[in-house]
Amino acid sequence: MTVLYYILIVFGTFLLMEGVTWLTHRFVMHGFLWYLHEDHHRKGPGFFEKNDWFFVIFAIPCMAMIAVGTLVPGWWWLGAIGFGVMLYGAAYFLVHEIIIHQRFKYFTRSNNKYIKAIRWAHKMHHKHLGKEHGESFGMLLVHRRYWRVIQKKGENTGTG
Ligand SMILES: [Zn+2]
Ligand SMILES: [Zn+2]
Repeated sequence: MTVLYYILIVFGTFLLMEGVTWLTHRFVMHGFLWYLHEDHHRKGPGFFEKNDWFFVIFAIPCMAMIAVGTLVPGWWWLGAIGFGVMLYGAAYFLVHEIIIHQRFKYFTRSNNKYIKAIRWAHKMHHKHLGKEHGESFGMLLVHRRYWRVIQKKGENTGTG
């Protein structure tokens, strides 16, 4: 039974992380830690951004949870939460750094509708160069209005 609970907690955490990411992006990154996120909206030279510190910031509690969950008897559930966060971090990295910003040259010419939708939604996030008046703070879930744009584009070019 524990294995089933373990899997449920991992995937539950993964889903919750989309909400946590939205809140963090909306209120922390575009809030008091804007100075770390700013260079992601106004790109400077070089491969790394100050924004990459957020991977470190999320990784520390994540690894601590996995360590406690592995080492302390009875705390396996905390390890499951840690693995859920780690899985979301990996998905975020794949979607945000590789698929959207193409920091590594994979999936650059995808015609997949979901990929087009997340790219468009995030493009709309980046259209705002400043801290205020942002939109589209999520990552894996795409609001209906961005899907509609992709739908329309597809019809216009005859590829949808
Ligand atoms: Zn942002
Ligand atoms: Zn971005």
